[in-house]
Order: sequence, then C-alpha cells, then structure tokens
Amino acid sequence: HLSNRLQTVADFVSPGARLADIGSDHAYLPVHLAKQGVITAALAGEVVKGPYHNALTEIENEQLTDTITARLADGLAAIQPDDKIDTVTIAGMGGTLITNILESGKSHLTHHERLILQPNVGEDNVRRWLQNNRYQIVAERILAEDGHIYEIIVADPVETPVTYTATELKFGPYLLREKSPVLQQKWRQEQARLDQVIATMKQAKNAPQAKIAAFKRERDQIQEVIL
Ligand code: SAM
Repeated sequence: HLSNRLQTVADFVSPGARLADIGSDHAYLPVHLAKQGVITAALAGEVVKGPYHNALTEIENEQLTDTITARLADGLAAIQPDDKIDTVTIAGMGGTLITNILESGKSHLTHHERLILQPNVGEDNVRRWLQNNRYQIVAERILAEDGHIYEIIVADPVETPVTYTATELKFGPYLLREKSPVLQQKWRQEQARLDQVIATMKQAKNAPQAKIAAFKRERDQIQEVIL
C-alpha cells in the first residue's frame, strides 16, 4: 500500500486517466493505480538507471507490462504523442527540480494535461511556473508523515492566465484559506529557522543590517498571514 503522501497524489488521478509518472523510481504510484483499476495506461519515467530498473522489476512482478511502460528518459522527454497522456505526476523532488523538468520539457506537453505535483521544498517556484504557463491551481493538500511535511499541488490548464498574489504563491491559495494545523506547524518551523538565522547574523561582527531586516520582515509576514 502507498504512503499517505503518494496516496494523496493518487487521489487526484481521475478514473480512466493515461498517466505519466516522472521520476517514478519503483513505479509504486502507477502500479497502485493500475491495480486499483483507476488508470487505463501509464508510463513510469526515470532518468537514472537504478531507479529505472526498480520500475521495470516492479511492473514485471505485478504483471502490469500491458498497462505500464517504464522509460529511461530525462523528465517529460519520456512522453511521446502516441501515449496520449492526460495526467502528469511529479512527486518527491525539490520544487526547483520539478520546475526545471516542466520548463525544459514543455514541448512534450499539449497543454491539456492535468499536473499533480508534490514538491518537497520550494513550492513557490512550482506555483509561479504554473501561473506563468496558463495553469490554474484547482486543489492543494498539506500533510505530515514520518517527520516531514508535504504539499501536493493540483493544476489544470486554462486559456486565460490566472494571477496569484505573492502571498498566495508562497503559502498556497487553497492552503492559505484553509489554514490547517499542519500548515501552521510548517510555518512555525520556518519561523524558528529564521529566528536562528537572525540570531546568528546578529552575532557576526559586520552584521549586514539590511539582510537582518529582510529576514525579520519574512518572519513577521509568517506571523501575520498564518499564525
Ligand atoms: N516519485 C517517487 C516518489 O514520490 O516516491 C520517487 C521520488 S525519488 C525521491 C525522485 C526520483 O526522481 C529519483 O528516482 C530520480 O532518479 C528521479 N529524477 C530526478 N530527476 C529526474 C528527471 N529529470 N527525469 C526523470 N526522473 C528524474
């Protein structure tokens, strides 16, 4: 069975979907969705040979070679027109890497695909890319598991660009409205980190005052917006 993190990603895959799971490693996500009968077809993309072989082995062991194809490719280059992919998942990586994968591979998308993204950090980069590429965020989730806090961002293509405020890009438009205890926990941790940084900088001899002030503003913003 899946981790809560991957199950939450799976929850946003529609019945009948043709899924591309990029950075699939063991292909747990497409294998689970195929076994549940949710997806029609899937490809598990991997750029590294070890994880690619993990995916191959898992798909063969589960006898799902008719439904799931593993492909050794960089990012969205795993997707070919004949696959008729309508859903792309990218989970368990930093937001900058996810953004780079989307940006460098966007010629492989038709702008009809739903994107389900689970950045481990740097969620604001992901939201900004979505905004700049005519995607609308349609749902967000935040959850704590094994001492980590994870965010899931679901986005659908739109014709008219949606613009988000700086605050929405940072904290998430839906997460901001919901203000769940997990969101508060996440940003309390970030505040504590900023406090540490500020304290360390203050001890330095030529403490850069402007930088300290910027970190303090960031800290205060979290207080105002979230807590
Ligand atoms: N998606 C799975 C999950 O969420 O549990 C596995 C996450 S694993 C930490 C990240 C995987 O992404 C690694 O197996 C890595 O090889 C793969 N990866 C990193 N950059 C990639 C890229 N440009 N294209 C395809 N896969 C990539």
